[in-house]
Amino acid sequence: MTRTQVAIVGAGPAGLTLAHLLRRQGVEAVVLERRTRAHVESRLRAGVLEQPTVDLLRELGLAARLDAEAMTHRGVRLRFAGATHRLDLSGLTGGRAITIYGQHELVKDLIAARLADGDPILFEVDEVELSGLDADPVVRYLRHGRRRELRCSIVAGADGFRGVTRGYLPGTVFEQLQPFAWLGILARTAPSSDELVYAAHEDGFALHSMRGPALTRQYVQVPPDVDVAAWPAERIWQTLRRRLGHGDGLDLPVGPILDVTVAAMRAVVTEPMRHGRLFLLGDAAHIVPATGAKGLNLAVADAAALSYAIGAWAGGAPAELDRYSSRCLDRVWRTQRFSVWLSQLTHRLPGEDAVDRRLRETALSELVSCPHTGAAFAERYVGQPLPTPWWWNG
Ligand SMILES: Cc1cc2nc3c(=O)[nH]c(=O)nc-3n(C[C@H](O)[C@H](O)[C@H](O)COP(=O)(O)OP(=O)(O)OC[C@H]3O[C@@H](n4cnc5c(N)ncnc54)[C@H](O)[C@@H]3O)c2cc1C
Repeated sequence: MTRTQVAIVGAGPAGLTLAHLLRRQGVEAVVLERRTRAHVESRLRAGVLEQPTVDLLRELGLAARLDAEAMTHRGVRLRFAGATHRLDLSGLTGGRAITIYGQHELVKDLIAARLADGDPILFEVDEVELSGLDADPVVRYLRHGRRRELRCSIVAGADGFRGVTRGYLPGTVFEQLQPFAWLGILARTAPSSDELVYAAHEDGFALHSMRGPALTRQYVQVPPDVDVAAWPAERIWQTLRRRLGHGDGLDLPVGPILDVTVAAMRAVVTEPMRHGRLFLLGDAAHIVPATGAKGLNLAVADAAALSYAIGAWAGGAPAELDRYSSRCLDRVWRTQRFSVWLSQLTHRLPGEDAVDRRLRETALSELVSCPHTGAAFAERYVGQPLPTPWWWNG
């Protein structure tokens, strides 16, 4: 194919969700992905889906496997000052919840559904270059040794933080690196809790989360310049047990560690998220510190907003394209504030003293004891409504 309406660069959650939403509006799109299908379907990353994300997937008919296999969490545990407390997310939000479903499983579902619809995803596309972004975009790329060209009306840059499309935006990039990182541990052990456990320990943060009945994904706070070699399995398990409160309501069985990764914690926002006919979405436009578990959900929210704007444009109302960036940025900055705030509330910060620690414990205590404070947190954690009405009432 040499011409389409929308060229979507990147087959992550942002690009694939956008492709499905556009199809429902009768807008044609081609998805271009740098990696192989096998690679994107096995890349372990996020696992917490907000309620609006799940609602959207159900509305699109893409949640059959998710509904059969995912775990619904109606609460979350917060551990601090030597005790674990439960925050009743559903009780505080009128019944809403979070869903635990691996990002790679979601990506598998989105790819399978698109290919079953007979719509194109071009894997193993390299050297993507954009031109004509003012009026008549062209995407040039290399695939299977041949140079090709795709002409389109709109380019959606959904190629993540390390992609190429964000380099075409002349706008401002706001960036802040947090003074800590996460060591992520994937282990073959049964989860010790039926809900996520966030621990704000005096030694540093830890998170107990799961990817299935026999698979845990846990994190410990480490310095940004951590040397992974200094973290053998024994040290990892000791640290997790100490910070998460092994023996105090939580049994943390030791098991084979399958993977250890390091993730920097950064807050990045590109403003505006549009340049001419190029529109950024997802991690290509912004990164939030992982503590709030918002990155994937923000990518889906951008896709909803962009599909609405493109649908309106295709229906003869191009002004919606002009509103896309500001509509998204409002949500992005609110999510950024939540994620940075939650990170700083739960992590040990450099140079902090005993007073800082007591203030942090007091703030955490208010979260679990004051219904108004707890409700404000729970509303944000389970997810705010999506930014626009999308295709069905647009
Ligand atoms: C360890 C970890 C844990 C996380 N946990 C959570 C969580 O619990 N909850 C949450 O909401 N978020 C979480 N996140 C964040 C979440 O994974 C991202 O926000 C999400 O992947 C963003 O989706 P995306 O589609 O914008 O980008 P990506 O998922 O990065 O997808 C971009 C796609 O573009 C492709 N690509 C890149 N360059 C090119 C190119 N030049 N040409 C063509 N294709 C290209 C990539 O291969 C990729 O497939 C986590 C992230 C990490 C790293």
